[in-house]
Amino acid sequence: MENSRKTPICFDNSFVQLGEKFYAKLNPTPVEQPEIVKLNDGLSNKLGIDLEMLELEDWASIFSGNRILPGSEPLAMVYAGHQFGHLVPQLGDGRAILLGEVIDISSMRNDIQLKGSGITPFSRQGDGRAGLGPVLREYIVSEAMHALGIPTTRSLCAVTTGEPVYRETVLPGAVLTRVASGHVRTGTFQYFALRDDEKAITKLANYVIDRHYPEVKESRNTYLKLLERVMDRHAKLVTKWLHVGFIHGVMNTDNMALSGETIDYGPCAFMDSFNKTQVFSSIDHSGRYSYGNQPQIVQWNLARLAETLLPLIDKKQESAVEMAKEVIELYSERFKEYWLSGMRRKIGLFTSEKEDENLIESLLNIMHENEADFTLTFRSLSDTAFDSKNNRKIRNLFKDAGAFDNWSESWLSRLSCESTSPEERLKLMRKVNPAFIPRNHRVEQALNAAVENLDYGPFEKLVDVLSSPYEEIKEKDEFMLPPKPGEHVLQTFCGT
Ligand code: AMP
Ligand code: MG
Repeated sequence: MENSRKTPICFDNSFVQLGEKFYAKLNPTPVEQPEIVKLNDGLSNKLGIDLEMLELEDWASIFSGNRILPGSEPLAMVYAGHQFGHLVPQLGDGRAILLGEVIDISSMRNDIQLKGSGITPFSRQGDGRAGLGPVLREYIVSEAMHALGIPTTRSLCAVTTGEPVYRETVLPGAVLTRVASGHVRTGTFQYFALRDDEKAITKLANYVIDRHYPEVKESRNTYLKLLERVMDRHAKLVTKWLHVGFIHGVMNTDNMALSGETIDYGPCAFMDSFNKTQVFSSIDHSGRYSYGNQPQIVQWNLARLAETLLPLIDKKQESAVEMAKEVIELYSERFKEYWLSGMRRKIGLFTSEKEDENLIESLLNIMHENEADFTLTFRSLSDTAFDSKNNRKIRNLFKDAGAFDNWSESWLSRLSCESTSPEERLKLMRKVNPAFIPRNHRVEQALNAAVENLDYGPFEKLVDVLSSPYEEIKEKDEFMLPPKPGEHVLQTFCGT
């Protein structure tokens, strides 16, 4: 590969070959004075990008969109989508530009996309730009999700632009380089379905299959199988969100990637004290995307995807509907299975008994009633599972410690039926119950320091702490703590 040694980023583009119906070709709009805030060393290694090859200012220039590298074929993707249940026939990358694709060291294909890179034909009333706060929020949370083991887009670079962006206040402008295993969304399929363009849907579906689900080519009904595999990945994904207390906040169909990765970190947040109905997003008035509603919304979104695939599933509409419906209904079962098996592990059970579901539900109920911190409850539970006398920490998390005592009687008796040794159990439980999550108040402190004082220290520290979320380290103890009174962040914003 003589070539790759000479090129800072070795592009290998496939989406552009779908043809011009699928995107608009254009370059990012240059910015005044790009400066690197953060370059992700680990991720660039994985992508086979050698950061040593160029100076920092060159990378700033590349990841702001000022300099287009050979092999890059910049484009903005078109898509539609249901936003809060309302169908918008045309959306598209309004402030993002795909620079191209890179095959990483594990031979996986990745999109390299700039977010905040200027106006595109799909910008509608927007300015095509992003503020430093939202860019750093996406950097922190997406990288934290990755470290937690949750499929997600990642963040390769954050740069400031030297230009202001105007929101409720004036903010420093910034650009995020987002890396995704693919940016095709349910909304991409909807865009072509709305235009009755079956040829384009077939092309898109084949593209998604080649890129993400090559195994379905063996199936009798390829497109039905595709739907089933996407359904399965999303059932797993939302389960993982629930297991760490993550609330996406804006699960519109244009924010649901066919790859099965978490995408679009806008008003997302992790909860502190457990509340099934928790919402942070300032625009989610009805709680459509609340913590506990997320599984149903995934199913709803999958049904919208299924609708677009009907003509491919069967020429006879009635039988296509029948088959697709079966897959969508199967989701409930699949979700339940994944949710339950993950929750079992969280409370230290590695065999399954019928009454486990009740045990788990009753724990969640007392956590809700007693405003127990979600993350700390499960993390502390590992210690109590190891030694039942070690329960001071967990009891303190419940307003009424007696509620925990009552529950733990049944739990301890259930644990005694397991053959796992206490040492092994502690190890396994700690692997699924993180000590560190991007707590809202910490994220907010990091963003404020950066935006108001250009102090990136708290941001750097937080990114570092969150890179190993399952490893408790004494010096990082304070990052485990929930917000003190007055530190609570009650609302998050899209930041667009
Ligand atoms: P989101 O809520 O981030 O998923 O964005 C929804 C749609 O609005 C997408 O098509 C975005 O590209 C577009 N959008 C969001 N913010 C901006 C902006 N500042 N300028 C132009 N388009 C935007
Ligand atoms: Mg979006």
